[in-house]
Amino acid sequence: MAELPQRVRIREVGPRDGFQNEPETIDTYDKVRLIDQLGRSGFRRIEVTSFVRPDVIPQLADAAAVLEAIDVPDDVALSVLVPNERGLDRALEHRDRFHEVSVFLSASQTHNRKNVNRSVEESLAGLRLVLGRAREAGLRCEAVIATAFGCPYEGRVPPERVASIASELLDAGAQEIGFGDTTGMANPRQVRELFPAWRSALGAEVELTAHFHNTRGQGLANVVAALDAGVDSFETAFGELGGCPVPAGATGNVATEDVVSMLEEMGIETGVDLPALVVATGMVADVLGRPLGSHVSTAGPVDWSPSPPAS
Ligand code: ZN
Repeated sequence: MAELPQRVRIREVGPRDGFQNEPETIDTYDKVRLIDQLGRSGFRRIEVTSFVRPDVIPQLADAAAVLEAIDVPDDVALSVLVPNERGLDRALEHRDRFHEVSVFLSASQTHNRKNVNRSVEESLAGLRLVLGRAREAGLRCEAVIATAFGCPYEGRVPPERVASIASELLDAGAQEIGFGDTTGMANPRQVRELFPAWRSALGAEVELTAHFHNTRGQGLANVVAALDAGVDSFETAFGELGGCPVPAGATGNVATEDVVSMLEEMGIETGVDLPALVVATGMVADVLGRPLGSHVSTAGPVDWSPSPPAS
């Protein structure tokens, strides 16, 4: 393995990527409690909600109420997802409550059309306006490219195509590019090869973030491959929450607690307080009333202190 990063940045995206994909709408009160607990778990970045159309994603219709009610430490950068200018307008009404925006599109035409009913070119044109206005408002901007590693409808997605979309997004004002394995098609070898290629296409200054889903159980392996490729920025969701609206059955993000546990055991700093995070995961399991996919939420953090077997 190459020399691994000594520390990584993790953006917790469960409150957006996770809550939007639950069949039931979580009470605003519970969302706020959960985000407040995450805010006390050492994260420096949390994606808290999305200003999508309430009639399209009713699960996040309370975006403004959540933003206004949460109480997290000042050093936590809060981001909101905005799909278009209308969403940005709604978000900007609460400008003092967050620091970053995320925008998104898919690298493949079919997935983009099914997700947002636009061609990739139409999305790029719209996001150019959003990114320009968000930067004018003093917001840091991330752009996430979904299906960057493969598309369930089109199969292989040419890496050069992903790089050229990323270039356009950077040109439009994005400061960070997230590469989303939205439907869990990536494998470690591919991840190990693609990030250096994207890095050399996009330059050393740009923050490249890996956003893996654990749809086929390869999330952690892909995280290690990304580390080996020099990636030090990740997006994950507590409790392995999350998914994608299309196609049905696209399951959760790689679990934050599993990633944090693995990295800390590897001697890589995450800044995350794992016991506090496991409390948040227990809280969300109670709220959802279902078992979660993550491992560390069940097993607990690794304990190296010798303990005699119970008699
Ligand atoms: Zn995701």
